[in-house]
Amino acid sequence: MQGWARELGFSQIGVAGVDLSSAEPGLMQWLAQGFHGGMDYMQAHGLRRARPAELVPGTVSVITARMDYLPRDTPADVPGAWQAVEWARQQRPGEGIVSVYARGRDYHKVLRNRLQKLAERIAQEVGPFGHRAFTDSAPVLEAELARRSGQGWRGKHTLVLNREAGSMFFLGEIYVDLALEPTAPVTAHCGSCAACITACPTGAIVAPHRVDARRCISYLTIEHAGAIPEELRPLMANRIYGCDDCQLACPWNKFAQPSRLPDFDTREALSGGQLVHFFAWDEPTFLRLTEGSPIRRIGHARWLRNVAVALGNAWRETGDAALQQALASRADHPDALVREHVAWALSQRSD
Ligand code: SF4
Ligand code: SF4
Repeated sequence: MQGWARELGFSQIGVAGVDLSSAEPGLMQWLAQGFHGGMDYMQAHGLRRARPAELVPGTVSVITARMDYLPRDTPADVPGAWQAVEWARQQRPGEGIVSVYARGRDYHKVLRNRLQKLAERIAQEVGPFGHRAFTDSAPVLEAELARRSGQGWRGKHTLVLNREAGSMFFLGEIYVDLALEPTAPVTAHCGSCAACITACPTGAIVAPHRVDARRCISYLTIEHAGAIPEELRPLMANRIYGCDDCQLACPWNKFAQPSRLPDFDTREALSGGQLVHFFAWDEPTFLRLTEGSPIRRIGHARWLRNVAVALGNAWRETGDAALQQALASRADHPDALVREHVAWALSQRSD
């Protein structure tokens, strides 16, 4: 199976059983503390998330898969090189930073298609069987299944870490009605490190292995629908879609691997662009330039909201009149959410 998976661009395949009951108390506690923010679907799916056989009746095993996603031209053999490129973006307030994973094709489609192909390949060998593929799917306890099946351990930032690949990979699962031998978990190797907790710009990692999504820039810029809390806006700096800081700080990411697929190569329009440029996109331009990209999912208004915050931060820091002019051009935007963030951004400086 590993060989077929590699041919499809996956780096590792594992198998987990379906008894996740020991993960249920932690899940319930996280929800009870409200750390999921507005991700109501997490609450709605409740314990079904920890019970694969309730989500897809007949499931007895879960095949887990890991796919590295650094763009193919990443200089991964030079230690620290790509992280230095990413950190440097934060020194250029006029530039908008899109999280590394989101600069290419929408991984949901890529992974689901390839998981489906893997299932078909297995069916050629064992005959037809029941299966359903998921990736980054709300009712699936993805990281926990990955951990149990030996894809890695949970870092203090809660992402899965692998000794050979760091954390720069996507996860996917195939729920199957075949009884497969589970693969063994690996030991954790964070030790006394706390670099991710220190690096987080908003203090969202409230304790080791506990992220308050309501403070996390990834959540706020992608999942969150409404206004971004004012006290967190300055801390977002020029991050306009997602945040990589906890992963950039993690020493294990010196082992992060480039993808073997062209799908996650960086699209020119989404990397290194100026905020003023991103803010000028009207809705048709936004839809055209984000076609097939995960960014499209947030829609034009949320995009403008995020860019307005970054513009406000850059305006406060640099006083560059071009930033003020860009913001002013959207002061009367029909969407109240955009208007309010533009007004906030313009108020960041009085000259
Ligand atoms: S993604 Fe960014 S904001 Fe979220 S926990 Fe990591 S460092 Fe903090
Ligand atoms: S930065 Fe350190 S503590 Fe955080 S996930 Fe990486 S190794 Fe673990």
